[in-house]
Amino acid sequence: MADSNLIRSLQNIVGKEHVLTDKEDLICYSYDSTFNSCLPGVVVIPGTTEEVSRIMSLASKAAVPVIPRGGGTNICGASVPARGGIVVAMHRFNRIIEIDTANLCAVVEPGVITAEFQRRVEELGLFFPPDPQALNMSTLGGNVATNAGGPRGFKYGVTRDYVLGLKMVLPDGRVLKVGGKTVKNVTGYDLTKLLTGSEGTLGIFTEIIFRLIPLPEAKRTLMAIFDDILDAARAVSATIAARIIPTTLEYMDREAMRLIEASRPCGLPVNSAAAILVEVDGSESDVPVQIKKVEEVCRKEGAREIRVAASEEEANQIWTARRAAFSSMARSAPTLIVEDVTVPRSMLPDMVKKIAEITGKYRIKVAILGHTGDGNMHPIILTDERDKNEMQRVKQAIDEMFRAALEMGGTLSGEHGIGLDKVKYMEWELGATGVDIMRRMKRALDPGGIMNPGKVLPPEDN
Ligand SMILES: Cc1cc2nc3c(=O)[nH]c(=O)nc-3n(C[C@H](O)[C@H](O)[C@H](O)COP(=O)(O)OP(=O)(O)OC[C@H]3O[C@@H](n4cnc5c(N)ncnc54)[C@H](O)[C@@H]3O)c2cc1C
Repeated sequence: MADSNLIRSLQNIVGKEHVLTDKEDLICYSYDSTFNSCLPGVVVIPGTTEEVSRIMSLASKAAVPVIPRGGGTNICGASVPARGGIVVAMHRFNRIIEIDTANLCAVVEPGVITAEFQRRVEELGLFFPPDPQALNMSTLGGNVATNAGGPRGFKYGVTRDYVLGLKMVLPDGRVLKVGGKTVKNVTGYDLTKLLTGSEGTLGIFTEIIFRLIPLPEAKRTLMAIFDDILDAARAVSATIAARIIPTTLEYMDREAMRLIEASRPCGLPVNSAAAILVEVDGSESDVPVQIKKVEEVCRKEGAREIRVAASEEEANQIWTARRAAFSSMARSAPTLIVEDVTVPRSMLPDMVKKIAEITGKYRIKVAILGHTGDGNMHPIILTDERDKNEMQRVKQAIDEMFRAALEMGGTLSGEHGIGLDKVKYMEWELGATGVDIMRRMKRALDPGGIMNPGKVLPPEDN
């Protein structure tokens, strides 16, 4: 529990009803979607930028950690208050301030739920493509802070590609505004891009300006079914090599399909080795042409069957099941570790093979899903954290997966971020110089080191 003077000062800023100190409440904010947890000293729920600014000045002077929190859906330990402190929950920042149809952009507060924002812009014939699969629970602020992606990233990119401007409160309480409604902006260093993906380690967003695009006229879903996992992985690479750009290119192995089907039956081919789920979009006339091309490539790479969804309802059923994949799997093991390795797309078949080798060697159970059009694989390890021996093997397997991905020219995270869970690998990818530069940038913005400590950078100097 935080110091009583600090609690009183926070109550003066936001009102008593927006400061939580009961243990039951604090426990709710001690987790995210990983199995890390740590109790915060206090939770504060501000409603204005001015209040956030006063909270930050107070925390800075008292040298108390501040942990911004959206929906708590991240899968890397990013919003766990690892060193206690003040959790700043942003759910009262829930207004869509403006959808500017003339400038194809929107001004929003960071606590808006991602799916709600997508629904609202689509009603106006506009489109906000970033689609992290927890979009019914995640917030736009969390999406910007983790630079979230999703299945549509293959054709439309990730959250960073849609952030035009940000209002952010710095750790010392000053308010920084970067970017704006213009689509072009080369004024000085690109701070908008730097702050996107900063995982709450540099400040708290209180307003975001997003770019929007026109909503495609039509879309269609196809499933290609394979008897060999490598044929499926090769079909992904071959589709890209054939210069076809579907909206999504998702991979599911047999274990992933079996677990999804057991929880949410939707006709997935559980007797096959793997399937790829493809969505194409575009004009009414172009969509059937794209579907035909994808079908040809998949057949050439050995697909045993191609199923094209007959209706939007059938396609939605498959996508809803895919979106619920993690929760479906959570029923089958006490501990679920969702990993996130990304390799250049041409290396996908090698990475799929490597994951099978590593998990076989360490005798661990894994299901593989992936936004494979981006080279982004999610090996999901089904384990039990109480089994110390197995956890040791799991850790070794994860280390080897990251080593392999980096050796193939890949990266530690395609979309989930670094958080607490991957700090130990940062130097593997960035080298000492890269980590040193990032530390200096962090110190420039957060000299007292109060913002979300322990995340992104290795702890000893964070
Ligand atoms: C079932 C499931 C599926 C998922 N699928 C995907 C996927 O397909 N793609 C993907 O990219 N991710 C995915 N995720 C991860 C998660 O949904 C994303 O990381 C999401 O962007 C987190 O948003 P959030 O609002 O829950 O943020 P939180 O988890 O609360 O926070 C995430 C980070 O953002 C910071 N933060 C939050 N709000 C602010 C703010 N206003 N200012 C500054 N920092 C802030 C936090 O401090 C923390 O570092 C999935 C998670 C689950 C549980």
